[in-house]
Amino acid sequence: MRVAVGLTLCMLLACIPTASAQFDPESLYAWPGDPVDSHVHMTWAALTLEVNEWADDHPGIVDLMSTGESELGKALWVVRLSDWSMDTKPNGSAKEIVYIDGGHHGNEYLGTALAWLSAKWYIDGWVNGDEEAINVLQTTELHILIMLNPDGNDFDTRWNINQVDLNRNYDHYWNTCPTTQPGSSAFSEAETAANSAYINQYVTDADLYVTMHTGVWIILYPWGKWPEQPPDWELFWSIRDTVNAGISDIPIQNANQGLYPNCGTSRDYGYGVMGFPTFTFETDDEQFLPGSVENLNDRLGEEMDVMRYLIDNVWFWRARLVVQSITIDDETLALDIANHGEASTSMASLEYRNPSGEVLWASSMFGVNATNSTVVSFEVDDDAFEEAGVWNLNYQKRVINASTWVNETVDGNTSVVMIQDAESGFLTGFGLFNPLAVILSFVGVSFYTRRENDIEDVINDVKPRCEL
Ligand SMILES: [Zn+2]
Repeated sequence: MRVAVGLTLCMLLACIPTASAQFDPESLYAWPGDPVDSHVHMTWAALTLEVNEWADDHPGIVDLMSTGESELGKALWVVRLSDWSMDTKPNGSAKEIVYIDGGHHGNEYLGTALAWLSAKWYIDGWVNGDEEAINVLQTTELHILIMLNPDGNDFDTRWNINQVDLNRNYDHYWNTCPTTQPGSSAFSEAETAANSAYINQYVTDADLYVTMHTGVWIILYPWGKWPEQPPDWELFWSIRDTVNAGISDIPIQNANQGLYPNCGTSRDYGYGVMGFPTFTFETDDEQFLPGSVENLNDRLGEEMDVMRYLIDNVWFWRARLVVQSITIDDETLALDIANHGEASTSMASLEYRNPSGEVLWASSMFGVNATNSTVVSFEVDDDAFEEAGVWNLNYQKRVINASTWVNETVDGNTSVVMIQDAESGFLTGFGLFNPLAVILSFVGVSFYTRRENDIEDVINDVKPRCEL
């Protein structure tokens, strides 16, 4: 069943209801490649021309670099999209980071096509004034390595030129499953070494990594190595349920159970070593599903809907702790803390430090479930708080051991209350000039005052989720 050029992607996304008046999706998706053996195929040369055109035509949002070369010397292009006139979001906070790669397997053209489309959708949306695309590029960096295996792509083969399966060549339980051609060692291949170098240099703080393949109609989350659910199962299940409820009924499963045991994959590396929430997008096509009645355009369009949901809501794919209040009596500290993110965190702690950084008091470790508030209590000696100081919150963004640590100063406007001593009627431990009196003066001021920017983010980020 030959797929005709021009037919393939031109109508993609026409059903998506977010385009502004002047945004014409039908004009945007002319595919630059050729149909080869019933695949939708783009050569590395065609890709090279196109990504360089993107960079030349849209320098304000497209930053193109090569993260190395394939075994045969072809550049591994990374298209980096954001509003590069701003280092931060409009509200001054750090932009979210998303990493995408495609084309590990050279004969899985639709995986490459979806990565290409992910870049093209945001570029064209920006150019055409689409509100969703503009909002994403003002608040997010998208790093997209469209074709990781250009040698295999041009030879129409799964392997790289050394006959290695690149998606079994990563340094996470490498070669510990029954597998084919994982290479001589982890990262033995130029392509995987370059990909991991990029990940470890430029996107270490990513809150989403999607790797794009072809073969089965499914989205996979970790692990491939084990049948058990990953430590952040709650996050993956929440995303699965939301996608399946309103965006696509594509199956979303643990990779080991949904497909088969696989080790040394970029997905397990991204989650197990880097700590990213990681998904493998698999797309099928007529070649792989004889008799499939679903149009290729619909398939890719549906996965693009899921991608847009994941990108629009990337702010949520980690724990986001906010101290709501701290209450201290002479023996107990009660911490009221909220988690606005959809990932739980299990090893949080609160510290009180003096201005020179010395820790005057530190809590034991505690956990906060996703999208929850909790009050945790600790035994204290309130003398520890007589010296002027600041509160610090330490926690991991997700439950997986590898996830990034956050160390944030708790805002001075947070409510910190010292309970009155029952016998004296005066505040315990307070003199008029005690520094804590200054903190006390903030009692009653809502923590939302400082956090309004973040809350704005929540509100803004929730919107697209509701629309999809
Ligand atoms: Zn694949």
